[in-house]
Amino acid sequence: MKAMVLNRVSYFERNSQPLELTDMLLPVAGEKEILVKVTRCGVCHTEIDEIEGRTAPPHLPIVLGHQIIGRVERTGSRAERFDLGERVGIAWINSACGKCKFCLEGKENLCAQFTATGRDSNGGYAEYTVVSEDFAYRIPDIFSDSEAAPLLCAGAIGYRSLRLTGLQDGENIGLTGFGASGHLVLKILRYKYPNSRVFVFSRTTVEREFARELGAFWTGDTEDEPPEKLTAIIDTTPAWKPVVKALRSLEKGGRLVINAIRKEERDKESLFEIDYPRDLWMEKEIKSVANITRKDVEEFLALAAEIPIKPEIQEYALDEANKALLELKEKKIRGAKILRSQ
Ligand SMILES: [Zn+2]
Ligand SMILES: [Zn+2]
Repeated sequence: MKAMVLNRVSYFERNSQPLELTDMLLPVAGEKEILVKVTRCGVCHTEIDEIEGRTAPPHLPIVLGHQIIGRVERTGSRAERFDLGERVGIAWINSACGKCKFCLEGKENLCAQFTATGRDSNGGYAEYTVVSEDFAYRIPDIFSDSEAAPLLCAGAIGYRSLRLTGLQDGENIGLTGFGASGHLVLKILRYKYPNSRVFVFSRTTVEREFARELGAFWTGDTEDEPPEKLTAIIDTTPAWKPVVKALRSLEKGGRLVINAIRKEERDKESLFEIDYPRDLWMEKEIKSVANITRKDVEEFLALAAEIPIKPEIQEYALDEANKALLELKEKKIRGAKILRSQ
């Protein structure tokens, strides 16, 4: 099978073609696993963090990609959940121990043995992949393969971030950074929190216009001050400056939820701008989001079908993965980027 493979960690500035088109052996499904013929795989900012080493895969080479849609091609001898040919999705959570305190509480995202698709095991930048049947999802019929793919990461993690804000309908919320996750969260907000005002902070005019089209109450640059204080803010940027600015925009007792696996180092000195009484005192909170649970994915897919949420998408051929990643890094195009494997 064909796959776009990461062989070594490097910076895009020095190597604009970090993934290599490679012929690989077809993976074999274990007893409780399914072999999935991949049709689409979403492109996520996390892949850039993996390529550049901020969340480096523990072993190389590796096939990236964790927003996978495909059809069940083969089932392991004890795999019974899905029929051959059935459409399935695979998300960031690839496995967890199932026995530890966190797993038993439904917080499998915090399990010490949590493994991630496309980081700890081969993912979806390929024609086929394998996964435990317990970590695959049925996809509501309403979605095309391309529409469903970005829901599996950007959407599901956005859903978890929103849950972690503890927002009540009518309270102001900010979104700083407005990529694939932000635009899906804004759609959930308009549906589930119709009385809340949404404030979107983005560095690009294209994203700000997009946010207004989707019903944002106010939009501005990540450095701008909003006209009202915000009860909650979700940060999806890779930088530190927006974190400092977000703390300043929070209402007393407000919560900043940081939805990022890693932050880039280049503007870390911005943190020295935090003024405790102004930016953190009065019971302001900072909380991060780590991974997703299967429940997040299942609940979000059902909600997305109900609303319905149809993500804005842009498709690329599998062998154009480097181009898609570079454009994502350079924030060239709005909406979610999807690779076509078939
Ligand atoms: Zn992702
Ligand atoms: Zn566990």
